[in-house]
Amino acid sequence: MSNPLAYLHDQLEDWRTQGTYQRLRVLESESAAESRFDGKEVINLASNNYLGLTTHPRLREAALEAVRRFGVGSGAVRTISGTMRLHMQLEERIAAFKNVEACVVFQSGFAANAGTVSAILTPEDHIVSDELNHASIIDGCRLSKAKIHVFPHKDTAAAEKILAELDSVAGRKLLITDGVFSMDGDIGPLPGLVEAAERHGAIMMVDDAHASGVLGRNGRGTIDHFGMHGRVQVQVGTLSKAVGVLGGYVCGSRDLIEFLYHRARPFLFSTSHPPAVAAACLAAFDVLEQEPERIDQLWANTRYFKQGLVAAGFDTGISETPITPVMVGEARLAFEFSRALFDAGVLATGIGFPTVPKGRARVRTIVTSTHTREELDRALEIFRTVARRMGILG
Ligand SMILES: *Cc1c(COP(=O)(O)O)cnc(C)c1O
Repeated sequence: MSNPLAYLHDQLEDWRTQGTYQRLRVLESESAAESRFDGKEVINLASNNYLGLTTHPRLREAALEAVRRFGVGSGAVRTISGTMRLHMQLEERIAAFKNVEACVVFQSGFAANAGTVSAILTPEDHIVSDELNHASIIDGCRLSKAKIHVFPHKDTAAAEKILAELDSVAGRKLLITDGVFSMDGDIGPLPGLVEAAERHGAIMMVDDAHASGVLGRNGRGTIDHFGMHGRVQVQVGTLSKAVGVLGGYVCGSRDLIEFLYHRARPFLFSTSHPPAVAAACLAAFDVLEQEPERIDQLWANTRYFKQGLVAAGFDTGISETPITPVMVGEARLAFEFSRALFDAGVLATGIGFPTVPKGRARVRTIVTSTHTREELDRALEIFRTVARRMGILG
């Protein structure tokens, strides 16, 4: 009998030949500035744990206390019997933090994007989307069956041109961008996009996954960074990155949130967060407000490490945030570089096609507030040495 899944094996063999097959690195300690992966202690430049909150004592305690009082699971989806007091408190806390009417929390940022775009649009509608928007936005757009119009990266004039052409076309228009782009670390052009959306009556939506806890006052995100309060109707954030736990949220008007309570499919058909997750997230917002020095340290480390890479002769692309790519070109080289860095003591992810365009492969670094100067110096030295040996640096 032949194996009907044999084609999967053939594809895996192809990836092995091309040098793009990836084995999962297994984390054997806490996620921290230095962690143990696959039995080896390395400097971790591959986490989204920007502020070190994954191991913050207050989040740990809040989670443990919630387990003791409420157990480990919520028992149901939000709309049946799985809405706990903690879930409501977290939504109220985030809405107040972001200065909006209301907030709904999803199981992940992915679910927040995919569930929201697909819920608020129909096949008669139009989406105008940056070409580098996150996969969860792209999936949400596809699920909505609305017509998708992609504009070149950060090209506000091109986005506005599409919106102008759609002025005479029936259906609602949604203009959507990442706040911070996850592969290049550049910031979305919110002021230009918001103005374009306003001129053409489009809904404005921003996915602030990598800006939550990183940009704006106390990490309020790109809307706060650019002073665009009240002008972005749908604000998405994540609780999985700088906030250190797990989840995604949508902030906006009370009507938007209540509509999502009724129609967002991940909200309706997938079980809500365990109480420990909601409790730890609640504690994280206290930390964001009370320990702003973490964000200052994140940015000081970012400037230091970026300058070090540039001084060594690396091409760090167009990054403006703690996400700093080291461009190498071909995917195979990026993966080889990443493996060699690991052997020398640094974890930094190799990223190639289809995550980034062909010929734009890179090793991506993310520093956190918890890296010491000594660790950053050591990481820079390893980058220089390995890159010279591999001919990546002349
Ligand atoms: C990480 C990320 C998400 C997904 O967030 P999760 O909470 O990890 O599911 C969504 N959008 C962008 C831009 C991201 O970088």
